[in-house]
Amino acid sequence: MTTREIRIIGDPVLRKPATEVTELTGALARLADEMVVTMYEAPGLGLAAPQVGVQKRFFVYDLGEGPGAIVNPVIEESDGEWLFEEGCLSVPGLSWEILRPKTIHIVGVDLDGNDVSIEADELESRLFQHELDHLDGVLLVDHLDEDQARDARKALRDLTLFGAVPSRPAPEGGFRLL
Ligand code: ZN
Repeated sequence: MTTREIRIIGDPVLRKPATEVTELTGALARLADEMVVTMYEAPGLGLAAPQVGVQKRFFVYDLGEGPGAIVNPVIEESDGEWLFEEGCLSVPGLSWEILRPKTIHIVGVDLDGNDVSIEADELESRLFQHELDHLDGVLLVDHLDEDQARDARKALRDLTLFGAVPSRPAPEGGFRLL
């Protein structure tokens, strides 16, 4: 199966809010399949449509229990705080400790149009919040504190200077690529 090119920070497509999915077509299902393969190959735990250049509100994920997809996701409730080292396939080779709500209630539909309603905690909650950010044109660098942001600007400048995307080792413990 074909994989899709993962767009990297600096690509304007990552900064535009995606539009609602109005019809669950075969083309959308095929795109989701390609995104899952792309996500496994990266490797990452989640991938949002804008990361492959498609301005639609859905993402795919796999936390070890098989692939899933949520279309038109909405976070209905969030609670608590959780600090976690977070990486992004569109910001290669970099990760930061970011504070986000610990638990969320997310709703949407799957690719067959069935209602999805998940009470997510810790990593699953983090993953969903990160992917939903992508649908709003938000990247993890937007969540950094002042010191982190200074380091990020330098690291991203270096990334641009060298022009190439560093190869990514498979994550071990610590941060996950979302
Ligand atoms: Zn990401």
